[in-house]
Amino acid sequence: MAEALRLEGVRKAFGSLEVLRGIDLALAEHEVACLIGASGSGKSTLLRCVNLLEPIDAGRIFLSGQEITAPGVDVNRVRRRVGIVFQAFNLFPHMSVLANVTLAPRKVLGLPKAQAEAEAVALLDRFGLADKRDEFPDRLSGGQQQRAAIVRALAMRPDILLLDEVTSALDPELVGEVLDVIRELAASGMTMLIATHEMGFAREIARRVFFLEKGVILEEGPPELMFSSPRQERTRQFLERIIRAGRL
Ligand code: ADP
Ligand code: MG
Repeated sequence: MAEALRLEGVRKAFGSLEVLRGIDLALAEHEVACLIGASGSGKSTLLRCVNLLEPIDAGRIFLSGQEITAPGVDVNRVRRRVGIVFQAFNLFPHMSVLANVTLAPRKVLGLPKAQAEAEAVALLDRFGLADKRDEFPDRLSGGQQQRAAIVRALAMRPDILLLDEVTSALDPELVGEVLDVIRELAASGMTMLIATHEMGFAREIARRVFFLEKGVILEEGPPELMFSSPRQERTRQFLERIIRAGRL
């Protein structure tokens, strides 16, 4: 199967703090993989590097075989192809849901208003938000806001979607509706790299899980294997903490 994403020896430091210390990772097209690891292990930084929100210090990143970290690459073009959704929804508070979703397709892709709106409405409809199109974000529940944020990313027709702890800020009863959206996207073939604390969800949805520890991928494999018989002691300790916290 064709390759969607590849990281080779990616390193990133903030001052003297080495956050990514040589990351190698590849995702096939339509693959869904989860990044797990303790808080501070570098998950968000890794995703931000893939979206070129952070410049890397060493290594290379490829999207569909094309190096995006090469000198002279058009950063904005790359960002159009890589959707990213964060823990905090980051919707524009002064704009309706529809305006939030159509803004980038109109400004960045140059879609005519009518076409951008038609596509946005179709996406909002697909994710159960059709009746919210004219609402402002603060009139939506957290789960609805996060679904709208995912729709906004999808409206750019990305090749790959990066999700960074998208359920972490939600009340527990709202987590399910956002996970349903991600399930639907996975079923529709969207390539996704998902940083998550939801281990049960990771087990269900991911073909592979990457365990990040202090900026290196310590272990990777199918979730059913890693969660039941981790090869590394550190992975086992992490999973034990997760189980004790009731998240697996
Ligand atoms: P995770 O998402 O796994 O919790 P992060 O990638 O957010 O981890 O952070 C990894 C480490 O990098 C942490 O020690 C964090 O404080 C540090 N860090 C992240 N972003 C910055 C930044 N912009 N400047 C300085 N340090 C940062
Ligand atoms: Mg993070």
